[in-house]
Amino acid sequence: MSVKVSLPTALRRYAAESDTLQVEGRTVGEALARLVERYPDLQRHLFTEEGRLRHFVNVYLNDEDVRYLQELETPVKEGDEITIVPSVAGGNGRAPSQQRLSTISERAEAVQLSPEEILRYSRHLIMPEVTMDGQRRLKAARVLIVGAGGLGSPLTLYLAAAGVGRIGIVDFDVVDFTNLQRQVLYTTHDVGQSKVQKAKERLQAINPHVVVETYETRLTSANALEILREYDVIVDGTDNFPTRYLVNDACVLLGKPNVYGSIFRFEGQASVFSAERGPCYRCLYPEPPPPGLVPSCAEGGVLGVLPGIIGAIQANETIKLILGRGEPLIGRLLLFDAWRMQFRTLKVRKDPQCPICGERPTIRELIDYEEFCGVTPEPVLAEELEITPRQLKERLDRGEPVFLLDVREPQEWQIAHLPGATLIPMNRIPASLHELPTTDEIVVYCKTGGRSAQVLRFLYNAGFRRIKNLKGGIDRWAVEVDPSVPRY
Ligand code: ZN
Repeated sequence: MSVKVSLPTALRRYAAESDTLQVEGRTVGEALARLVERYPDLQRHLFTEEGRLRHFVNVYLNDEDVRYLQELETPVKEGDEITIVPSVAGGNGRAPSQQRLSTISERAEAVQLSPEEILRYSRHLIMPEVTMDGQRRLKAARVLIVGAGGLGSPLTLYLAAAGVGRIGIVDFDVVDFTNLQRQVLYTTHDVGQSKVQKAKERLQAINPHVVVETYETRLTSANALEILREYDVIVDGTDNFPTRYLVNDACVLLGKPNVYGSIFRFEGQASVFSAERGPCYRCLYPEPPPPGLVPSCAEGGVLGVLPGIIGAIQANETIKLILGRGEPLIGRLLLFDAWRMQFRTLKVRKDPQCPICGERPTIRELIDYEEFCGVTPEPVLAEELEITPRQLKERLDRGEPVFLLDVREPQEWQIAHLPGATLIPMNRIPASLHELPTTDEIVVYCKTGGRSAQVLRFLYNAGFRRIKNLKGGIDRWAVEVDPSVPRY
């Protein structure tokens, strides 16, 4: 068969400036082989050393991509036309936001592994699922992790060790003593220091071939698209709903896969949201829970090993996405129960009504996520309804009658409580009003003053007037009045 081959401008210089030529062959592969015989310089531009088509070269037979036919085995008929369409890396003077970003495949073609890297990654290279090609993809990949906390710790450690070439980390926090129970990126020595800086040092000590980009800032609607767009895969290691919806929406708008994980006490979830190929976070959870319904890890606690397991699952999904192999968690929600040691997988379907990835999206740009999630600052209590730990101490020292009401949970009471206090956990207050004195003044306290302020408002509305909230809770009491009280 004689077929016509059309060459793109970029390749014509390797074919004596021809734009079209006639070649013989029974399949697309044979026709291209004839072409390369005639112009050997084209070989390295079209094929890998193993003789496969390069990832960034698209070959069309008439108007169909041969990847959707039988690839190089696709038979040809007399008079057919083969068109070679290499992708262009962009940068032709277009505005930056319009520029097409290079793909992992395109970058992987240009990446080499040094002998030291080959040795380092040898256990990957000998796996048929990874090989040199896969390891080059890992090196060419750019992964952004939002949140360098419990999930971000195992995630970044494994991705760096695996040789992911560029790792971005967004976090504005410093290492806190209470982080060390699960955030294995950090040491006791790091307390008080910048998380992203410490993470960068640790990851580069593990693998000096990895470039770590740090963003010491809060991810917001103003900066999210700019930060995310440089990356191939986004990993959500956040701990709050506004940022989770922000990450989801930015990923959908930019067409990036979003590797999701969340943890609470001993339960975890993971999925891969990828609006083009499957559902997004909003398809699964169109609305955030009302504020206060789902406690944070700081309020509800989290088993230290749980983020290790969920974060490692996120790292695993990220590596599969980069390799373009295996079965990612797209369209599936993994539920993990560390207490019963159970894994379950549920189907998640793309919602045609989804406000951002559905058929008629109503969200076309990033919104105010604090407002969307109902996270508005609590109204301040009137000054006469508050008392500082020092003022309380003075009144107790003077022997004034004060009813100390502790509204925390029993396990918190067990850690520490104020002498002479009465424990009535917050959710039992409505049923326990008769236990409260009507003559003595009531001072309500919790850990840091938030829950007790809510209880105070409830009591005020129930008619109580001789009530005060302990500002800063037992935590501030420990700092300002009695350092023997343990902080937690
Ligand atoms: Zn959706």
